[in-house]
Amino acid sequence: MNAMGRAHLKTGLALVLGVTRTDRLIRLMSGTRRLPLVVGYHRVVDDGRPRRASIIAPMLVSRRMFERQLDWIGRRFRFVSLDELGSRLESGVPFETPTATITFDDGYRDMYEHAYPVLKRKGIPAAVFVVPDWIGRASALYHDRLYLLLTRDWPASREVLIDLGVMRPEQVLMARGSNEPFAALRHVLTTQSQEGLARVIAALEEKLGIDSGRLDGLRPLSWAMLAEMQRGGVITVGSHTRTHAILTRESASRMLEETAGARLALEDRLGTPIKHFAYPDGAFDAETVETVARAGYRFAYTTCHHRDRRHPLLTIPRSLLWENSCLDPAGRFSAAVASCVTSGIFHFASGCRYRHGVTPRPVAPMVLR
Ligand SMILES: [Zn+2]
Ligand SMILES: [Zn+2]
Repeated sequence: MNAMGRAHLKTGLALVLGVTRTDRLIRLMSGTRRLPLVVGYHRVVDDGRPRRASIIAPMLVSRRMFERQLDWIGRRFRFVSLDELGSRLESGVPFETPTATITFDDGYRDMYEHAYPVLKRKGIPAAVFVVPDWIGRASALYHDRLYLLLTRDWPASREVLIDLGVMRPEQVLMARGSNEPFAALRHVLTTQSQEGLARVIAALEEKLGIDSGRLDGLRPLSWAMLAEMQRGGVITVGSHTRTHAILTRESASRMLEETAGARLALEDRLGTPIKHFAYPDGAFDAETVETVARAGYRFAYTTCHHRDRRHPLLTIPRSLLWENSCLDPAGRFSAAVASCVTSGIFHFASGCRYRHGVTPRPVAPMVLR
């Protein structure tokens, strides 16, 4: 099923269930799974910001929609901090009422500019999973740089990907009719290690040049912003690897460096223990989870509802929210859709792109030339 089909299946399901039944579903799901709702966001942007092709849409929410979603959640759940959530899960004593916590991945600067003031004003605790090697830098993360390049000149980029052996011509053909640059982005991200990604980006930049003007808005938090938010008492800082590496694509030693190294770097700069970790792209498998345990994290968060039975606290499910995730087909905010998204029922309806077994690691960088 394509993305459009899945979207209709989801909203259809929500509308059939209706608001009353989906609210009951929340209570049922939180009762049976005894799991709080952990929401994941990426970027929060200005309301008036025009949509641009260079932006990965499911990573964005406007400030207005962000507040609307928070208010909706706040009427049904009690907000807790990530530390409170963690120690409660560790104790095994379930929460008596539906409980929610808000998280942000990556640590974009707009989290400080647009989300933090809202959270502070409403007194809602939240957490941000950051990438220490990126904090305070002028560059953008690999996935953003890659998407900028792919959308800038898709025909030229496509040639580079085929020349490098990263995509075969028939794989490019299969992506026809969908958002081709986005399909290519997903393909490259899920098949390349960080080293492979660096080579793909270098080859594309060599051919297309660097367009630094479009990097605005893709900048990270600074250490000072992070320290200020931490001091404010509302924000907990967690780790998201050293360089935003998708761990299932990395060797054992790189995985350990990305996870343990990130924890040490953050503890060193911020002076507090770092207990929480979020898997970049939600990608985990048995080996990844073991490594995150060895790296000294007590809690880790995914982007789906699959769990590793040996390490339930290192595979805590999250529901990702963005601008359109709670809208009905007519583009209106729908409580029924919001209930389904937050209850995790969509996960069971449409599945997950990962298998979470043991992923065969690339023995050498995947890029051929
Ligand atoms: Zn991320
Ligand atoms: Zn999954």
